[in-house]
Amino acid sequence: MRIGRILFPVRELGPGSRLGIWVQGCLRACPGCANPELQAMDEKQDIPEDILFPMLCTAAAAGRLDGITVTGGEPMLQAGAVRRMLEALRPLCGDVLVYTGFTIGELRASGDPDVAGVLARTSVLVDGEYRAAENRGERLRGSANQRIIFLDEAVRPRYEAYMRAGSRIIDSFVAVNGIVSVGIHPPEFRKRLDRDPGIPPRTDPPRRETPANAVPEGGGPG
Ligand code: SF4
Repeated sequence: MRIGRILFPVRELGPGSRLGIWVQGCLRACPGCANPELQAMDEKQDIPEDILFPMLCTAAAAGRLDGITVTGGEPMLQAGAVRRMLEALRPLCGDVLVYTGFTIGELRASGDPDVAGVLARTSVLVDGEYRAAENRGERLRGSANQRIIFLDEAVRPRYEAYMRAGSRIIDSFVAVNGIVSVGIHPPEFRKRLDRDPGIPPRTDPPRRETPANAVPEGGGPG
């Protein structure tokens, strides 16, 4: 399964303390995509399922787990692997949030049993392509065209409370190759970051400039 990154605990992209799984690969190329590094269908990112799934289950069992968020990249391009992953993880957690650039109508019309299997194990689906012009700062979705679809009504109250409770937050993680900034960013965030990384070069001796290597992480596909 092609994986872009895995983070835990993520405190955005759904309520509570979450296991965040970013799949690698997306063909959509939405203008303003916050995760362009996750678009390549990069086979070097492939992790064998017999290694990945036990690792995820260990991570999920290691701390308080309130939910699982699957984003990317485009999870439905690897629907078989995502279905099998959710089969492994779902016994550990009943709250699964999935982001996809497809609409739920397109997914259901596909007739793909793996896609149906993913939907059957999804509590909340955020569907539709990301449109930067409709990025209005709402929590949970990147743009207003996207729908927050409750496939499991049991989780609706806690998601609605989460959406009412505040505005978007950015949750940052230190990774081996820089800082991963998790959350749904405002439009143009990536351009602004490239223009002004926010860390001024040092001028005191010994002179050593530290490049900021922040990787903004959007709310997933769309
Ligand atoms: S915004 Fe999402 S759906 Fe669009 S290109 Fe980026 S990862 Fe793909």
